[in-house]
This record gives sequence, C-alpha cells and structure tokens, in this order.
Amino acid sequence: MSGGKKVTGANKGIGYAAVMELCAKFDGTVYLTSRDDSRGRKAVDELEQMGLRPAYHQLDIDDESSVLKFRDHLVETHGGLDVLINNAAIIFPMTTPAESFVESIRKTIDTNFYHTMRACKILFPILRPHARVVHLTSDDGHLLRISGREPEAAILRSKFSAPDLTEQELCQLMEDFIDAAKNGDRFERGWPNSVGEREDTWPNEGYIVSKVGISALTRIHQRQFDQDLREDLAVNCVHPGYVITDATFQKGEKTIQEGAEAACWLAMLPPSSPENVVPKGAYVWHDKQLVDW
Ligand code: NDP
Repeated sequence: MSGGKKVTGANKGIGYAAVMELCAKFDGTVYLTSRDDSRGRKAVDELEQMGLRPAYHQLDIDDESSVLKFRDHLVETHGGLDVLINNAAIIFPMTTPAESFVESIRKTIDTNFYHTMRACKILFPILRPHARVVHLTSDDGHLLRISGREPEAAILRSKFSAPDLTEQELCQLMEDFIDAAKNGDRFERGWPNSVGEREDTWPNEGYIVSKVGISALTRIHQRQFDQDLREDLAVNCVHPGYVITDATFQKGEKTIQEGAEAACWLAMLPPSSPENVVPKGAYVWHDKQLVDW
C-alpha cells in the first residue's frame, strides 16, 4: 500500500501550490486538506481542471478530533504516512485593535505552535520509515527575531537554542511570552515588541514568537526521530520567501509556486545514505540553502 502525502492548510497559498507540485511529481496519494470543506473542494476542483488528482480530507488543526479522524482515515486507507507538510498558520494584522492584542497573540501561538505540535504528536506515530516532515517557518522564525532588551533577549535565545531543550521547556517559553504580553513588559523581558514601531501591517510579534517556536520544535522533533526505531526519519523547517498570498495581503516577491519549491524539495528528499546525506533538523531558506539558525 502506498502511504499518503499530506499538506495542511492547502486550499490556498503556499500549501495549495505544494499540493500542485507533489501531485505533478509523485505517484501515490497526495491529500489536499482544508479546515473548510467548501474551500477545500473548490481547490480540488481547480486542480482537477489542470489534470491533477489530489485526494481531499477535512482537517482543522485547531480541532483535535478533526486531526484524529484524519489520522484514522490515513491508517485505514493507506496504512501510514510518508510525507507531512505542516503549512497551516494564521497571522493577525498589526492594525488589530489594542484591546484584542493579547487575545490575537494567544490565538496565533495556539494555532501556529501548539496545534501544529499536537498534530505532529497525533500523526508522527503513523509515519513510515524514510518519512519526510516539513514545518513552514519564516524568516520571522529566525532566532535573532527574539530581539528585545539585552541581555534578557540573549538569555531567551540561549534557552531556545539549547541542544537539550525539551517540548515542555519550549511550551514554557511560549507561556512566558504570553505572560509578558499581558503584563505589557515584553521588551524589558527580552521579547520582540514591534507594535507601534512599524507602519506596515505585517508581521507581528505573536507571529514571530510562534515561528521561532516552530523552528526550535524542528530541532526537538529531529532529536526524537534520531532515537526512533523507524529508519531515516527527517524533519526540517523552511522559510518560503516573501510570497504573494493572503497572509502577506497579496504583497510579496514570489508566486505561490516559487514559494512552495523549497518545501517540496524537503518533502521529496531521497533516502539518506553515506554518499547522500540529507538535511535533518535544519532551518532552510527558500533557495534551499541551510541557514545557521
Ligand atoms: P495563507 O494565509 O495564504 O494560507 C494559510 C492556509 O492555512 C489557509 O489554507 C488557511 O485556511 C490554513 N489554515 C489556517 N488555520 C488553519 C487551521 N486551524 N487548520 C487548518 N488550516 C488552517 O498563508 P501562506 O500560504 O502565505 O502561508 C503558508 C505558510 O507559510 C504559513 O505557515 C506561513 O506562516 C508561512 N510563511 C509565509 C510567508 C509568505 O510570504 N506568504 C513567509 C513566511 C512564512 P483558510 O483558507 O480556511 O483560512
């Protein structure tokens, strides 16, 4: 049985283009997933008109039961999963009214970080040997984006980048940030504090911290994979570039197809061998270069 390949948040933007590329280049079943059925089915219809044949399943990473249902479907239908692209994310504009600012930070960190992490916990057990996992991060997910007052920011950066950081400690860092946002002392505690300093509407620091969290989680996940009995599991995170999508309010430098290129390259990495060692646990740029995090 061929395992499924799955892209979260794929009804539009970079996830949609990733499904397009995987469908064109791979045998086997590629799942376009969407939290909203009508948006998902419309996207599948469009791809079918291009001669592509994606499978479809509803998936809302904010809803644990939706992820569990999808996992059960993959197990029953394919017996496992070979590729997982964690693409789904949200961003609130910096024009978000001040009174809902902390709430917007909470929601952003919930979806982009906690719920991605939970989806991984649910789906990692069904990965097959040589599976490839890709987390969409951002240039905002670079460690240096933790740029509040020094030396507090440096201390935070050293915690994020500790080689033995645990999931629990990473979650605690997320909670510390939310607490600082509530207290209004983000900058003093080392966290980024861009609100009010920039005129444009993107990005915001809830998004920054959620993506730094995803970059750190990638390293933790790869350590878990390295201990796993299944052979050659690889997870990497990728900054797709500045891509014209709804998330960037249709600004940007790259088409969605260009934005999906590096993610698809990581999703299709060949089996690792001594002659051909593939990236694992890396922070990867849109030009496929491995960047020092
Ligand atoms: P879009 O806003 O265009 O698409 C985001 C997708 O995620 C949509 O399909 C959306 O569904 C889906 N989604 C949101 N919440 C959930 C959820 N709870 N469950 C399932 N799906 C969900 O974003 P992009 O294509 O631009 O971004 C894709 C990824 O790339 C994101 O992780 C983003 O952070 C990252 N990125 C993008 C950059 C860019 O320049 N565009 C730059 C750096 C990183 P719906 O249509 O229902 O809202």
